[in-house]
Amino acid sequence: MKGSIAVIVEHAGGEVKPSTYEALAAGQRIRAIVGGPVVLVVLGEHVAELAAALRDATSRSVIAVEVPDLVTYSGEVYKEALIHVFRDLSPAYVCMANTTQGMDLAPGLAVRLHAACITGVEDIERDSDGIYFSRSVLGGKVSVQARPLAEVTVLTVQSGAFRSNDTFNCSASGANRDTDGEGVVFLKMECVPRHTRSLGVREAEPKDAALADARVIVAAGRGVGSRENLELIRQLVEIFPSAALAASRPLCDLEWVEYRRQVGLTGAVVAPELYVACGISGALQHVVGMRGAGFVVAINSDPNAPMFADADVCVIEDLTTFIPILVEAWRNQRHGSAHFFDET
Ligand SMILES: Cc1cc2nc3c(=O)[nH]c(=O)nc-3n(C[C@H](O)[C@H](O)[C@H](O)COP(=O)(O)OP(=O)(O)OC[C@H]3O[C@@H](n4cnc5c(N)ncnc54)[C@H](O)[C@@H]3O)c2cc1C
Repeated sequence: MKGSIAVIVEHAGGEVKPSTYEALAAGQRIRAIVGGPVVLVVLGEHVAELAAALRDATSRSVIAVEVPDLVTYSGEVYKEALIHVFRDLSPAYVCMANTTQGMDLAPGLAVRLHAACITGVEDIERDSDGIYFSRSVLGGKVSVQARPLAEVTVLTVQSGAFRSNDTFNCSASGANRDTDGEGVVFLKMECVPRHTRSLGVREAEPKDAALADARVIVAAGRGVGSRENLELIRQLVEIFPSAALAASRPLCDLEWVEYRRQVGLTGAVVAPELYVACGISGALQHVVGMRGAGFVVAINSDPNAPMFADADVCVIEDLTTFIPILVEAWRNQRHGSAHFFDET
């Protein structure tokens, strides 16, 4: 399938990570411009069911690469296995999410493929000379357009930049058992050279959704004023299904919130459906991390806070006044017949 568009599937615990569908949406955009089949490539120890579920959910061709002992992502094994797979597939474009995995995999893979490598892609367009890709640099102050000069291009896709119109529900347990039907190609790699061995996976103790998967993110900034007031933010998190607490950098520097919850230039890039910024001024270094959010509510006592420029709803109020009233209103609604938020 020379000229195909390969999309690398990110998965864990038998579930496809939502960022994969954004990489797939970018692959579809490339297809709309240059043509060529879009092929999903999933690697792992037991990925047959997941591959079948992906085929059912996306109606795209899937290559399932079974690699013994590949329980979690390993850069060296992925690169070795993909080089092997791409000898036959000859993709012109390789798309993956701009996650920790994608950022680890893309540059080394590009070197091995003698390919161009463009990371953090936010837009894909064409002009009279052909396709080109846009990405932000200098913390979002400047947008750069790049045209690949190599035969193969490896891309990482910025979170929130390409939204899929389809809602895929895909996990290994939901797969059609007839896993060798049309659309799934199985490859078995017996022996991939490696210098490390995974000893297993130990879950961190998140009590709420991880930032990447949360539909709602409630972010606390220095405006919370004290560690005790973070309890208000946690109460706000609890009123939403699939919600997570995040923070601006000063709160992480103060060790009030773990660094893995920091949003921004030196933290996570997130794209939830709803982002509630509580006591966050809206510095560019923070905003570049949440620009992909679908809807933004900002709560700030300063009517001139820059955060309001990026907000759909602006609440000009002391958060220690506003949040308890909001939480109380929700609790009252809950005990009545009506529901404040759709919990589906
Ligand atoms: C290289 C570099 C990288 C960086 N990376 C990041 C990053 O990844 N993420 C990040 O967040 N920052 C990052 N920063 C820091 C960034 O520049 C800002 O300093 C930071 O985002 C400010 O955090 P803040 O909005 O919480 O605090 P502040 O700027 O102090 O804002 C606090 C806000 O709270 C409001 N407020 C105060 N009291 C109340 C109240 N009672 N009720 C309601 N509102 C109230 C104030 O009006 C103000 O707008 C980086 C900086 C540099 C130089």
